[in-house]
Amino acid sequence: MPELPEVETIVRDLRPGLLGRRLERVDLLRPSVVRFPEASRFRARLEGRTITSVSRRGKFIHLGLEGGEELVVHLGMTGTLTLERESEPLRLHTHLRIGLGRSEELRFRDPRRFGRVLLGSSGELQLAGVLPRLGAEPLEPGFAVQELASQLRRSRRAVKSVLLDQALVAGCGNIYADEACFRAGIRPDRRACRISQPRAERLLRELRLVLEDAIRRRGSSFSDYRDGFGARGEAYEALLVYGRGGQPCVVCGAPLRQSRVGGRGTVFCARCQR
Ligand SMILES: [Zn+2]
Repeated sequence: MPELPEVETIVRDLRPGLLGRRLERVDLLRPSVVRFPEASRFRARLEGRTITSVSRRGKFIHLGLEGGEELVVHLGMTGTLTLERESEPLRLHTHLRIGLGRSEELRFRDPRRFGRVLLGSSGELQLAGVLPRLGAEPLEPGFAVQELASQLRRSRRAVKSVLLDQALVAGCGNIYADEACFRAGIRPDRRACRISQPRAERLLRELRLVLEDAIRRRGSSFSDYRDGFGARGEAYEALLVYGRGGQPCVVCGAPLRQSRVGGRGTVFCARCQR
């Protein structure tokens, strides 16, 4: 599933090619990917508009449009958003194509269909309940580690479950939650309220570092993730625990444990993480 670094990579890739472009032709091949407004009104509201900004909030891609509305895309488990030549053959599971002129188009593809597309002003989307309340952005200069650590410690849930809760920190998913817990030496299944303030702060700092590192490597490619040009990222090779259950810990050599926390597959080192 694309998490913050993957979505950020896509946004940075697409931004130069999308800014100032006019959405000339909208072709909605699978109407059910549009969750707001009704699919029948989607095309008329979108066609002819110009893209004025390309940004990310949590795991959502926001294309700001002239007039103040936004086209919002969530990639779900297997979604990709790519800028391609019109002449490129259409791949299976392409649900939306938007012609931008100059023989280019923006394509949204999503085999497993957990992704979604929204269109409206941010107020309208909030009101419709289709955009969740999102917490702090870990890459922002104002990421308040101390305050967020205190908030995290108010929860009785497992540390990892709190990291995955988008209302505290936006954009963290399964991969980077496991990586941050490992780097901070914290067992992902430990209750958040049982962790000291300094350790909770360290966890959040490690989370930011691991996300920044993954962006430098252009995201983790496993299954379907592709960047804005349809290429794979290189961060997967740099992961220390995720996907390495049973293999030796890079620090102590003990076999990494594979378990489940909050229903999610989780890997950790029982020796290094407390
Ligand atoms: Zn270890």
